Amino acid sequence: MIVAMQEAASEEQIQHVIERLVNMGFEVHRSTGTRQTVLGAVGPRFDFDVRDIEVLAGVGEVHRISAPYKLVGRSFRPEGTVIHFKNGVTLGGSDVHVMAGPCSVESREQLFAVAESTSRAGAKFLRGGAFKPRTSPYSFQGLGEEGLKLLRAAGDQFNMLVVSEVMEISQIALMLPYVDVLQVGARNMQNFNLLRELGKARKPVLLKRGIAATIEELLLSGEYIMAGGNYEVMLCERGIRTFETYTRNTLDISAIPIVHKLSHLPMVSDPSHGTGRRDKVAPMARASVAAGADAVLIEVHNEPEKALSDGAQSLYPEQFAELMGQLRIIAPAVGRKLA
Ligand code: PEP
Ligand code: MN
Repeated sequence: MIVAMQEAASEEQIQHVIERLVNMGFEVHRSTGTRQTVLGAVGPRFDFDVRDIEVLAGVGEVHRISAPYKLVGRSFRPEGTVIHFKNGVTLGGSDVHVMAGPCSVESREQLFAVAESTSRAGAKFLRGGAFKPRTSPYSFQGLGEEGLKLLRAAGDQFNMLVVSEVMEISQIALMLPYVDVLQVGARNMQNFNLLRELGKARKPVLLKRGIAATIEELLLSGEYIMAGGNYEVMLCERGIRTFETYTRNTLDISAIPIVHKLSHLPMVSDPSHGTGRRDKVAPMARASVAAGADAVLIEVHNEPEKALSDGAQSLYPEQFAELMGQLRIIAPAVGRKLA
């Protein structure tokens, strides 16, 4: 941390700041210029709040130079994290993946129809919700364990890995036998108790960015999972809430290269929730792959107009197949391959 004292700061104020920094565990290097004193604070701590120093008398500016996280930081694994799944599927390496499926698992017919068409188009991950976080308590809440059973059966039949959302701690044990990836939804990104429990699990976690979360907050939530010993974490940009109302959310594509620079964790993009509109999903999926996403998450429904959730943003199977063809062309342009 760099602390620039005000020009008018007294020696007493400077000494007080130094004392405070030393008490916080920092080694302080003082540089006294003709006009101003600057303090360089170096130390093993990263869980400090710069405002504790900013508010001290005589302080001008404080700049943090180290990241507030360590395990998710790029320097922890400069080569990047590659998650290995069964059947030789890897995520985070050169392959770009597509996670496809309906927002909610609704019935055997629906799920198997979507799994069949998306796997035929090349998707290796089947994603569907069995436990649904709905804004209204009167909306369809998901089929629960029945939905998980259907997901596993469809995944096995079409040779797809299964991704599904876990909403609370008590669901983790129930879900483990059925899924290959546990998704944490946007609303739970800062459910720290849930994140800690997922840190104890030995199953990859897909952590979605909260609707009003900064990238740093997303990374710190990933840190919770890694701090528990689970290093198989994927982060996901799914759109944030802005003043724009045309789209459901604003998909922050810049989060993809930013996370890649700051972290070694694979980055997934979700243009379905990120836009909320079927006609905008494909362009933003193409942009996501061009921006370096390691996977894209696409909602697909065999009959979107009858969907029990998120029908408006669900692609028709033919649209999904067309998009896969486009991603197959875009990925090599940025040194990747659509798996
Ligand atoms: C979902 O993935 O279906 C979902 C509810 O997403 P989010 O948590 O991003 O809103
Ligand atoms: Mn959805």
